[in-house]
Amino acid sequence: MRILIVTPSWIGDTVAAQPLFMRLRARYPDARLDALAPPWVAAVLRAMPEIDGEVIANPFAHGQLRLKARWALARELAGRGYDAAWVLPNSLKSALIPLFAGIPRRVGFTGESRYGLINVRHTLDKTATPLQVERYAILAGPPGEPLPRPCPQPRLEIDAARAQATRAALGLAATPAPVVFCPGAEFGPAKRWPETHYAALARQLAERGVPVWLLGSKKDAAVGDAIARLSDGAALNLCGRTDLAQAIALIALARHVVTNDSGLMHVAAALDVPLTALFGSSSPGYTPPLSARAQVLSLALPCSPCFQRECPLGHLNCLRQITPEHVLATLGDAAMAAEPPPRTGEP
Ligand code: SF4
Repeated sequence: MRILIVTPSWIGDTVAAQPLFMRLRARYPDARLDALAPPWVAAVLRAMPEIDGEVIANPFAHGQLRLKARWALARELAGRGYDAAWVLPNSLKSALIPLFAGIPRRVGFTGESRYGLINVRHTLDKTATPLQVERYAILAGPPGEPLPRPCPQPRLEIDAARAQATRAALGLAATPAPVVFCPGAEFGPAKRWPETHYAALARQLAERGVPVWLLGSKKDAAVGDAIARLSDGAALNLCGRTDLAQAIALIALARHVVTNDSGLMHVAAALDVPLTALFGSSSPGYTPPLSARAQVLSLALPCSPCFQRECPLGHLNCLRQITPEHVLATLGDAAMAAEPPPRTGEP
């Protein structure tokens, strides 16, 4: 059996889809799973053993229809003989390629009135499946079947050689395991803990001899530069200096991760790295970090969650009032030791 997964476009959502892949693998043990995914999430899928086939580049950015190009890609995929497709985004556009490719079984939520495009249609029950991860995982079974509990948690696999090679390529081979900060949040500034707070925390860690690395994409480079400057060099800005595969490998080496509610937060949780997640305008009730080693800091102010990209009240108190000292207190003794003991599961 050959299965095509049309993946989400966000890193965090792609991590959250892994329990669906685990359930598909258990249900169809002989199946080969290919993924049709935007290039920027491919590295996440390659760290998932369940995706044992190809990760095919999905070149269609948000909002682009490009019907002729979709048809051309679909006809190329038609030759691969897929038996079924799971379409995870809810948009109409995302269901076109499996239809055009003649894939007979097309599974997903009804979403944007996708009658006919999706022919194994699930109806979203927000009460029965409050978490994003559950809403993907339930798609493995027939419509109407309750999700078996407990739902598995995402678990990415990184090989040790890749992690060490990445570290060496950046000239960091001799550095003790760092505390990693993920100070970006593509959604917007209302999900970003202030740069001054990250910098103050970096200085406090540096006083204890703990290295701090900042990880993120090119879009986060300016925020990283600001934190490095404000921390008087206590934080090393690697934002934009790694690709996603390298960032994942470096997070796997961390003794602790401090992160905004972002894609890399979900990556760190799926790597089972101890982490502190800082929630501002968003809600840990829908997309929490899925790991027993995760601590969530959320002040639950009367105005939160507002789900806005920028603070409509102009003060960002939901994040500003989480102090560096507050975050420091969540880091255990192992995270603060000059030479931390190796973690179980460290690559
Ligand atoms: S309105 Fe409240 S929850 Fe929203 S960003 Fe501002 S402080 Fe945070």
